[in-house]
This record gives sequence, structure tokens and C-alpha cells, in this order.
Amino acid sequence: MATSRSLLTESQRQALRERGGEQVRFDEPLSRHTTLKIGGPADAWIAPSSIESLQSVISYCHAQGLPLLTIGGGSNLLVLDGGVRGVVLSTRALREIERVGETGIRVHSGVSTGKLLSCATSWHLGGIEFLGGVPGSVGGGMVMNAGTYLGEFKDVTTRVRSLRLSDAASVLRDNPECGFVYRGSSLPSDEIVVESWLELVPRSQEEIKATVASLRARRKEREPKGASNAGSVFKNPEGDFAGRLIESVGFKGTREGQAECSPAHANWFVNHGGARAADMLKLIDLARARVQEAHGIELTLEWKCIGEK
Ligand SMILES: Cc1cc2nc3c(=O)[nH]c(=O)nc-3n(C[C@H](O)[C@H](O)[C@H](O)COP(=O)(O)OP(=O)(O)OC[C@H]3O[C@@H](n4cnc5c(N)ncnc54)[C@H](O)[C@@H]3O)c2cc1C
Repeated sequence: MATSRSLLTESQRQALRERGGEQVRFDEPLSRHTTLKIGGPADAWIAPSSIESLQSVISYCHAQGLPLLTIGGGSNLLVLDGGVRGVVLSTRALREIERVGETGIRVHSGVSTGKLLSCATSWHLGGIEFLGGVPGSVGGGMVMNAGTYLGEFKDVTTRVRSLRLSDAASVLRDNPECGFVYRGSSLPSDEIVVESWLELVPRSQEEIKATVASLRARRKEREPKGASNAGSVFKNPEGDFAGRLIESVGFKGTREGQAECSPAHANWFVNHGGARAADMLKLIDLARARVQEAHGIELTLEWKCIGEK
């Protein structure tokens, strides 16, 4: 039975089941699909296992006027407590990855960054060591231009293919058209990235593994342990660090319910178990206001917020 908030009729549920295959769930708590472990239910959560099946779901939803939204690994997402009306498309079952020529890789958006890094290493290809310890999917990584001080997706991506959520048409963009910037891109939110092409460099496995190990060791020292999180909450403002600014106003350790500004790293807000998105939003507003008052700097969210309050 449809829940009272769901937009979906019984016949729409049936049609989505037919198009999405086994990976279709209704009234699915999105807390199961985010690293923060926060988020209300999606009317439907679908993870198509091929691009053709994804196209069929998109076309159906468009014809029915059902809203669509994409999630990857959920490692940069704050899903609000009211959940998401309409259909959430998960890329997690789009998993192809292949070597192209000597130094190229074609990769589906649902492949995890860890899998991409391990395949490249096995093919003796370097250039994406910056991904050591960065969670999430390749598609999310493209949209966010994920990276570290060692580099970012912008440096190795040659082309990105998306499907428009309005008509399922394929759009191919070369690197400059993706508008990659620090922790972001201009890849439109009404498209879903389905595959990307990377150009890497020949490198020995020993060299790759040594670089990744030192990045991971550095991260281990700095990152909070033991509580659910979604990495950095705010982007670093030009010439400064969001963590330094938040720490300077004495915000570390501030709690709202089960949500806390981590005592280990001020730009990581963690969920000790059972935190609500509303608690996180309060912490976000408070940290922003305190930094604005003390430093005159407006912090910009790196997390993406989706759903209804
Ligand atoms: C412990 C931890 C450490 C982290 N460290 C780093 C770090 O060092 N550097 C860094 O850059 N980030 C870091 N992050 C943040 C996060 O891992 C990255 O932003 C990552 O690229 C997000 O990918 P995702 O697949 O999880 O995207 P999601 O969180 O699922 O989505 C992020 C955004 O991308 C959109 N999206 C996702 N997939 C697609 C797609 N296929 N097509 C269109 N839109 C899509 C979503 O709608 C959303 O707006 C960290 C997170 C955690 C939890």
C-alpha cells in the first residue's frame, strides 16, 4: 500500500517494478543509502542494472510527471527527515569498467572510487592516487570534482556521458564543458552521469601503492573515527580552512541531539546514532552564524542537501 506522503499510485509502482527489475524498493529509508545514516524515505528507490533499463525508468517517470533525483554512494549527502517525493535513481548497479588503449579507462558511474583505484593499479596506471580514502562513486566524484591535495577528477577526465532526466537523451561532454571547479562542476542537476573516460599515465604498482598508503596514513591521523559522517561539511573559503574558522569560534564538540561538531576535526559533523537531519541543519546554521559574526566570512556547504524537512 502507498503511504500517505507517497506520490505514487499502485499502478505506477507496478510499472516501476517492471522497468527497474529486482532493485526497486518503495518507501525506502534513505538513511540506508547515506554514509551519515540520516534521511527519510524515498517514495521509490531504483538501481537499474543497465543504461537501457535506466533510460526506460527515466522515460516512464517523465511521461508520468514523477520527480527524479540521483544518488551515488551517498557520501556527500544530507537527506532531510521528510524524505524524497518521487523516484530516487541509484547508480550503484552500473558497474562496468574497462581499459581503453594503453592508458585510458572507461568507467560506469556506479563503480566505487576504491574499485577504480584498484583496477588502475592492477593495470599499472597512475594519476588517480588522490582517491586514496575518498569514498563514493565515480559519478558522484565527477559531479563533486572529488579530490585531495594530490589532485582531483578534473585532472584525469577526458569525457563524461550523462542522460537527461527529461527525455533520457544522451549528452557527451569533453572535460572543459564539465565546468570542473573546486569541489563542484557545472554538470546539470537534471542529468544523470552514466559513464566517464579517464586518461592516466603508466606507473609501477609499487609507486602507486606507496603514494596511496602515505595519503591514507595522513588522513587517518586527521579524520574522526567511530561515528557516521559525510566528510567535510563546508568548502574551504579562498585562502583559509573551514575547519580552522569553525574551531576558532570554539564550536568543536557542540552538540544538537545526537549530532556533533567533531572534537577531532571542526569541519566534520558526525552522527552518534539516531541524529536527525534537523539536528544537523541546526548545527550548520549555528556554525555559519558564529563564523560570519567573528570573521565576516560566509561558509558555503560542501554537503548536498536533498528532500523535505
Ligand atoms: C569519510 C569521508 C571522507 C571524504 N573525503 C573526501 C575528500 O578527501 N575529498 C573529496 O572531494 N570528498 C570527500 N568526501 C566527500 C565525498 O566522498 C565526495 O564528495 C564523493 O565524490 C561523493 O560521491 P558519492 O557517489 O557518494 O555522491 P553522493 O553523495 O551520492 O551525491 C553527491 C551529489 O552528486 C550527485 N550525484 C551522485 N551521483 C550522480 C550521478 N551519477 N549523476 C548525477 N549526479 C550525481 C547527487 O545528486 C548529489 O548532488 C568524503 C566523504 C566521507 C564520508
